[in-house]
Amino acid sequence: MGFSPLIRLSSRGGSAAKTLLFSSSYLGITRSSYTLVGQTQTQIQTSKSESDNQSSSSSRRWFNSSGDGLPSYMRAAVFREPNKPLSLEEFHIPRPKSGEILVKTKGLSLPPYPFFFPLFLGLPQFLLLSLDNTWENFRLSKSVFLPACGVCHSDLHVMKGEIPFSTPCVVGHEITGEVVEHGPLTDTKIVQRFPIGSHVIGAFIMPCGNCSFCSKGHDDLCEDFFAYNRAKGTLYDGETRLFLRNSGQPIFMYSMGGLAEFCVVPAHGLTILPDSLPYTESAILGCAVFTAYGAMAHAAEVRPGDSVAVIGIGGVGSSCLQIARAFGASEIIAVDVQDEKLQKAKIFGATHAINAFKEDAIEKIREITGGKGVDIAVEALGKPQTFLQCFESVKDGGKAVMIGLSEAGAVGKVDINRLVRRKIKVIGSYGGRARQDLPKLVRLAETGIFNLKDAVSRRYKFEEVDKAFQDLNQGAIVGRAVVEIV
Ligand SMILES: [Zn+2]
Ligand SMILES: [Zn+2]
Repeated sequence: MGFSPLIRLSSRGGSAAKTLLFSSSYLGITRSSYTLVGQTQTQIQTSKSESDNQSSSSSRRWFNSSGDGLPSYMRAAVFREPNKPLSLEEFHIPRPKSGEILVKTKGLSLPPYPFFFPLFLGLPQFLLLSLDNTWENFRLSKSVFLPACGVCHSDLHVMKGEIPFSTPCVVGHEITGEVVEHGPLTDTKIVQRFPIGSHVIGAFIMPCGNCSFCSKGHDDLCEDFFAYNRAKGTLYDGETRLFLRNSGQPIFMYSMGGLAEFCVVPAHGLTILPDSLPYTESAILGCAVFTAYGAMAHAAEVRPGDSVAVIGIGGVGSSCLQIARAFGASEIIAVDVQDEKLQKAKIFGATHAINAFKEDAIEKIREITGGKGVDIAVEALGKPQTFLQCFESVKDGGKAVMIGLSEAGAVGKVDINRLVRRKIKVIGSYGGRARQDLPKLVRLAETGIFNLKDAVSRRYKFEEVDKAFQDLNQGAIVGRAVVEIV
C-alpha cells in the first residue's frame, strides 16, 4: 500500500492523548524546518520509499508540526455509471490549495478484546466478561477515533442517474474528520481557527466566501459551489483534487468526495467538532441536520406555536421534526408510508403520525388543525405527488417548503388560484448557511436539544458502502445511516 513508515495511534481527548510513533526507517530521514502561514512544518525527505511513489512530488513527503505522517495513497468510493456498484479504488493523497483543508476521515480500527490475555493470567470468567464489556463500550465510545460519512439520498440520485453529475466521481458529502494539512498561503485566521489535529464537521455546501451571495451571508446560494462543484464536479479553481493511484486519472468530487480516507474541503464549509459530541454520529450534522435547519430557520422561519407537517420521515425529515420541536412548534405532524418510521418519529418530537398509505394525509392534517391546515408543511421526498400534498396541507397564508430533490426535469403542480387568492408561499430550500448555521447545530447537539444518538440508526463499514446505498434505495434505513471509514 505504500503507507508512511510513521503510524500515529491517538486516543481522543485533551491531555490524556498519547502519540506513539513507530518507524522502521526513522534514522534514515533528514529534516529541515520551514514556516508556512504561521505554522511550523517539517519537511522530511526520504529516499527509502521512492519506489512506492509515482507522482512528481512523491519523493518528498510533508509532515506537519504535530508529527502526523501522511500516507502516499488512500481509498475512496468511486461511482462510475448508473446502477453499477460503487468501487473502492486507490488514489494519491489529495492536496489542499489555498483556503482549503485536508481532512482525514479514516479512523482507527480497534480489534475485539483479546480473550487470551486474561486466560493467560488465570483470571476468572466473570472478570473476563466484564473486561470484554468494558472494552466493547470503549470501542463504541466517542473517545475512539471513528469519523464517518453519512449515507444520503442525494448521492443515491446521482448513482441512479436521476441527477446528472460528472463521472467518474467520489460520492459522500457529510463528514467528520481530523485536520491534517492546510493549503499553502491559506489565511492565518483560518489556520488558527482549524489547528492541525482539531476535529471538524464538513457541510455539503462548501461556501467560497467571496461571491456575491457569500458576501451577504447567503452561503446556501454560493455561486462557485454551484458553478464548479455541482456543475463540473471540481473545486473552485475548476480542478479536482482526486487522482487515481495507478493511472493518475482525475476523478470528480461530489461536494468534498467524503466517502474517502482523506478529503479536501474549502475551509468555509467546516466547523470545529467539540469533544463533547460523538465523532461518528456528528457526521450527519453536515447534510441531514444542516438541510433541516436551513428549511426551518431560513425558509419556514418557524415560530413558537406554529403547526408543522413533515412529509417523508427519512434522515432529513426526521431531523426536521427535531428542529421544529427545538423552535417551539406546537403540533408536529409526521407523514410517511412506513409505520416503523412513524413510530420512531415520536422520539423526534412528532405529536401526530399519519400513514399516507392507509389514510388521506391532507384530510387528516386538516382534522388535526381544526380544519385549517398547518402553518408550515415540509416536503422531504422530491415526488410530484407529495409536492402537491405539501401545498394542499398548508393553511391560508401558510408556507409549503420543498427540500426533497427530484429526478432531473420533474415538474410539480399546484392550484394557481388557491396560491394567488390565499397567499400560499411555495419556498425551495437547499441545505443551510455553513458559516452561520453549522456552529448553531453544534450547540443544539451539545445541549441535547438535537438528539444525535437516536438520529443515527445504522453504521456500515467502508467495505459495505455499496450495501448501505442499496438499503437506502429499498427504504430499509429508518433515520440516517453512516459509513465508518476504517
Ligand atoms: Zn445529503
Ligand atoms: Zn460563494
